[in-house]
Amino acid sequence: MKNYDVVVIGGGPGGYVAAIRCGQLGLATALVDEWLGTDGKPALGGTCLNVGCIPSKALLDSSHHYHNLAHLLPAHGITIKGASLDVATMLARKNKVVQTMNRGVAALLKKNKVTAFSGHGRLQAGNHVAIAVHGAAEEVVAAKNVIIASGSVPIDIPVAPVDGRSIVDNTGALAFDEVPKRLGIIGAGVIGLELGSVWNRLGSEVVILEALEDFLPAADRQIARDALKAFTKQGLAIHLGARVTGAKAGKKGVSVKYEDQAGSKALEVDRLVVAVGRRAFTDGLVDADVGLAMDDAGRIQVDELCRTSIDGVYAVGDAVKGPMLAHKASEEGIAVAETIAGSKAHIDHRTVPWVIYTHPEIAWVGDTEQQLAEKGIASRSGSFPYRALGRAHGSGETNGFVKILADAKSDEILGVHIFGAQASELIAEAVTAMVFRASSEDLARTVHAHPTLSEAVHEAALAVDGRAIHM
Ligand code: FAD
Ligand code: NAD
Repeated sequence: MKNYDVVVIGGGPGGYVAAIRCGQLGLATALVDEWLGTDGKPALGGTCLNVGCIPSKALLDSSHHYHNLAHLLPAHGITIKGASLDVATMLARKNKVVQTMNRGVAALLKKNKVTAFSGHGRLQAGNHVAIAVHGAAEEVVAAKNVIIASGSVPIDIPVAPVDGRSIVDNTGALAFDEVPKRLGIIGAGVIGLELGSVWNRLGSEVVILEALEDFLPAADRQIARDALKAFTKQGLAIHLGARVTGAKAGKKGVSVKYEDQAGSKALEVDRLVVAVGRRAFTDGLVDADVGLAMDDAGRIQVDELCRTSIDGVYAVGDAVKGPMLAHKASEEGIAVAETIAGSKAHIDHRTVPWVIYTHPEIAWVGDTEQQLAEKGIASRSGSFPYRALGRAHGSGETNGFVKILADAKSDEILGVHIFGAQASELIAEAVTAMVFRASSEDLARTVHAHPTLSEAVHEAALAVDGRAIHM
């Protein structure tokens, strides 16, 4: 039987990053991943790389360029006659981006001497891992340590069964071969908004049905209000408090039935996307006699260092508690690798940033005003609008603001909330500030280049103390 210091099950951003770090630390490491690309070949990178973060951002960028042709460029004096859209080329570009990254992950594993198995991994008693390599017999290997990074899959709802053609999940919604004239989406969460934006920019009439009365309940309340207004203006028809009771695919499209406060309603769409959340994926992962403890939500139970109930077995990423985000999965993977190698690791879950890649983008780190109030923490707040920035006017991106929340006594920054262009990039400064436990005064005393959008962060920090300059 082969022996490894570490066997990683799952090759997404949690698993492959853990394996690379193990390799860097000199641990004999194997990684087992079962994902196959559309060409039937191993496709490392998990959900994020194959049907998540990367392809969705590729399409968001393509559709943003297309939308700008008609909506932004004329104001710059640029008009392009006869512009057309070729969905097949757009999808081929997206697939090429994914395949390039798949190869990149495989090369990084090789460079760090990680043995990659393409197949299914199953944890057995005694920290053995049974590996069923695609098309070959099962092989059992021994591992001093096992890192489970089996990720997540979309949640199914019986009222709208996914058929992969008319009713799809995120995988299908990244691969429509033509722009649906009418697109229905169940769930106004991150996937609903990002993929709804893609197809809306390309010409679909998009209707989003959201069960909750609140829009984006985890976000800052002012951002949620402004974002709802902006997305509605863009053409996303977002119905809150809408509970879907049935969806039936027919020859002409999908008939959707839902209920809201006004009663029962019907909606006809060409395609329907189900985006109602994801669940930890642990099917066929562990032999019954192993006794791996799970939590109430069906995730693998872990402590603050991602240790499971079994000695030497760790779990990271979407398969465990916490936000389902690629960078959170990767940070946990690195911390586990370092723990196994004997270092003292720490994961700062408090400073994991969130980004929603709509336009404008939404990004935040730390607590909202509501969360601080619930914790009984008195805070001061400073906001600064994009419309007061020279750079925002220059680029035509004046919608948005930055809000900084600081502890009323110590002035430590406790939360930063951004709605606006490039929020995904601007949030990194806020994360760094919070990791170093900076005060709003520290940010206010930091020189920011002019003219940049980052000046909104500077001015919001000044505004905490009532001394923003351009407002
Ligand atoms: P996964 O990426 O799900 O990887 C798990 C891997 O393990 C898969 O390859 C799976 O096949 C394999 N596997 C599972 N069980 C076994 C087994 N027993 N044997 C062998 N292999 C197994 N997050 C962000 O931070 N930013 C974004 O912009 C973003 N966009 C997203 C867009 C979409 C449409 C979706 C669906 C998700 C998005 N996410 C985003 C979330 C992100 O994809 C996940 O948080 C991330 O992929 C989790 O990483 P992971 O390693 O835990 O699991
Ligand atoms: P989500 O949790 O973000 O949103 C799901 C939405 O569906 C919620 O608003 C929920 O109230 C609603 N909902 C649930 N059941 C419903 C029903 N029966 N009818 C109508 N609405 C219903 O989940 P998601 O959008 O599927 O995304 C899954 C996860 O993937 C996200 O939580 C996130 O962790 C990750 N993700 C991240 C990014 C990013 O970081 N930019 C992008 C996409 C996905």
